[in-house]
Amino acid sequence: MLPLVALVGRPNVGKSTLFNALTRSRDALVHDEPGVTRDRHYGVCRLNEARPFVVVDTGGIAGQEEGLAGATARQSRAAAGEADLVLFVVDGREGASSLDDDILQWLRKTARPVFLVVNKTDGLDSRTALAEFSRYGFADVFAVSSAHRQGLDELLAKVLAKLPADGDATILDDDPERVRIAFVGRPNVGKSTLVNRILGEERMIASEVAGTTRDSIATDLERDGRKYRLIDTAGIRRKSKVEQAVETFSIIKTLQSIEHAQVVVIMLDAAEGVTEQDASVLGAVLDAGRALVVAVNKWDGLSTYQREQVEALLSRKLAFVTWAEAVRISAKHGSGLRELFRAIHRAHASATRQFGTSEITKALEIAYEANPPPVVRGHIAKLRFAHPGGENPPTFVVHGSRLRTLSDTYKRYLENFFRKRFKLVGTPVRFVFKEGE
Ligand code: GDP
Ligand code: GDP
Repeated sequence: MLPLVALVGRPNVGKSTLFNALTRSRDALVHDEPGVTRDRHYGVCRLNEARPFVVVDTGGIAGQEEGLAGATARQSRAAAGEADLVLFVVDGREGASSLDDDILQWLRKTARPVFLVVNKTDGLDSRTALAEFSRYGFADVFAVSSAHRQGLDELLAKVLAKLPADGDATILDDDPERVRIAFVGRPNVGKSTLVNRILGEERMIASEVAGTTRDSIATDLERDGRKYRLIDTAGIRRKSKVEQAVETFSIIKTLQSIEHAQVVVIMLDAAEGVTEQDASVLGAVLDAGRALVVAVNKWDGLSTYQREQVEALLSRKLAFVTWAEAVRISAKHGSGLRELFRAIHRAHASATRQFGTSEITKALEIAYEANPPPVVRGHIAKLRFAHPGGENPPTFVVHGSRLRTLSDTYKRYLENFFRKRFKLVGTPVRFVFKEGE
């Protein structure tokens, strides 16, 4: 599936700064909203749109953390051992330390391909900075400054050249009418109950999609005359006894499923509301720009009073994705599934709707006239025209002048205006602002 790059290094060398530089979302606006948890350890690098890859910040590899933090740290270290490429990050200002030597020894044992990344070389002579580490004997060395985004393009180019192709990309090549869905969520929310129920329904035409690896990677099915592809069904359906016992939550698998889907259905357990892990998965869906449906499962087990409580809690916790539809379901009893598929269909239709330049320029004009942006230092931003910039998510490229003065509030106004006018539900919407013309 998506290739995996692990950042390894002692504390304070700049791993998390590099992590942020690589995984920084294009959609900063979204992430300013309260409620979105940005997972600090895992992200997807999309600096090259065509070849995204998962980045894991392994933190310190000593790691004495307990509880959930400990589990994440252990997963991160395990990830480094399985990574397609490790970036061994060192500090160009402090030079090599004995801790670096220890980490290097450990890395050699994992036998993964490693690039040496000498960070914090801003203001330093990069040749001198690299020379300090020459005794490590790396063929691939890079002098970068993560904080100032220097040297990252060259690093990225070499990383991409080193990574294997997405082996299961066949999952994406198919009938454009087939909707690709991923069911994601924490262990025990009911994913496998739901998927098995959907696939087990009568008159279901389902077929497994073979991957390059041993297992089927997806299942195609038809339902009410519409075609769907369920992503990563093997992992969901055939849980091993061990997996069931330890309740593993594979963040990497989740990120990969999101990447390959058009519509992500995040399943919540009604009795547990929106946990931090749920919020972090939601953040990943927004990063990826995917259409989203929230399935609130185990609705059957609740009293009327509990249902009211859950409704109130959800509307508060999901305030940052008001555009997503929430459907109450019971995977166990099969109720709410028709509504769920209707919501999936609406989200997909919105996410892939085709726009013409004239209709969106018209919308822009009306929005602008009804509510022009405020005057900033004697000037007012002009919005001249817009053209479509892509689907899933719908992207609108707006041309004008003094666009830098547009506030987040005004951008949100435009977004809401477009959402209403074009009846867009269940999908993020993006605006790209271009100065000039
Ligand atoms: P981590 O512990 O390896 O994740 O390190 P952090 O990313 O938290 O960075 C540790 C410190 O180094 C912070 O104060 C950063 O601001 C600083 N830092 C990170 N990258 C650079 C860089 O490229 N140049 C300089 N001068 N400082 C950096
Ligand atoms: P997964 O780990 O997300 O795949 O979750 P499972 O499908 O294995 O379900 C975990 C547990 O929740 C099982 O004991 C299921 O029987 C139970 N469960 C799943 N869906 C429902 C539901 O709609 N209502 C109730 N009451 N229990 C459910």
